[in-house]
Amino acid sequence: MELLTIGAFARAARLSPKALRLYDELGLLRPAVVDPSSGYRRYHPDQLEQARLVAWLRRLGMPLARIRTVCALTAPEAAEQIAAFWREIEADTAARGRLASFLVQHLSRKEPVMPLTISYAVRTDQGLVRESNQDVAYAGPHLLAVADGFGAENDDRLASAAAVEALRPLDTIVPADELLNVLNDAISRADNAVRALDAADVGTTLTALHWSGSQLALVHIGDSRVYLLRAEELFQITHDHTLVQAMIDEGRLTTDEATSHPQRTLLVKALHGGQRQEPDIQLLDAEAGDRYLLCSDGLHAALDNETVRRVLQTTPEPEDAVRELVRLANDTGGADNVACVVADVRPSPLGRPAGSR
Ligand code: MG
Repeated sequence: MELLTIGAFARAARLSPKALRLYDELGLLRPAVVDPSSGYRRYHPDQLEQARLVAWLRRLGMPLARIRTVCALTAPEAAEQIAAFWREIEADTAARGRLASFLVQHLSRKEPVMPLTISYAVRTDQGLVRESNQDVAYAGPHLLAVADGFGAENDDRLASAAAVEALRPLDTIVPADELLNVLNDAISRADNAVRALDAADVGTTLTALHWSGSQLALVHIGDSRVYLLRAEELFQITHDHTLVQAMIDEGRLTTDEATSHPQRTLLVKALHGGQRQEPDIQLLDAEAGDRYLLCSDGLHAALDNETVRRVLQTTPEPEDAVRELVRLANDTGGADNVACVVADVRPSPLGRPAGSR
């Protein structure tokens, strides 16, 4: 078969001659023949397939060194490598997207009109069926958190307790310009604390709000939730990291179908000993009169939204509200552990925002 000149080969492969010369120098795609006197490169038509693959992988944004590896593989192995590369890109893009939206919120922040503070109550309950309570809840002046642990054989290796304990240094005033770094450090500490348990099947959800006087910073991974009651309406602030939620997002499942799906508790993200997964972080502007509920799935799977809304709307004291929510969850059978925190945002009696400097 007749060899192609670099110009003809470049046109057929939709690459430039300059790119072909670079790929030759990098060992990605060697010409079939190089004329020893003129240095002209000639290519065999059979090399077109590899040249096209290189061009497509370049279009995907794959680094040259990785393209070299992929080109040396069989087609099924190459397919696997390309899929793995794309999963990394998607995870990286999602993490950077969350960072970008956090920064937009941070830089768009307005000073509160009114100094605000929070009052709160916290409660966990084993439920009526489980043999232990792996749910953990915490509430302090600057930190609210719930965590739903899984896989622990005994209390010494409770991932939920380790994660919440690691977040506790967040229960303090954090200057706004340090918030993102402080949150990231806290997330790393929680992740490391769970890894330190050194048990592959042990893990936890973690949903926490850091209160800084006018703003709430959310850290969230797993299927525990934050709800906001504002002007008598209940809003779910967090997005479940579950298989069924991913299927709902893709239009493959309705919300109603999800409630009875056999894999409805399967998490796609959590803190555990496996591959590190990034929690969502988000800033929320608080208003006087807001009421926040943090809860594990033992509560939100047991009670419908209208019941939760009604209890939060009609029970003035946070302490009474958490007790009533746990009681109602147990009334449905108490199939799971329950953890919940209720926090009210109120005008500060001190005349300046709690947590401000
Ligand atoms: Mg649970």
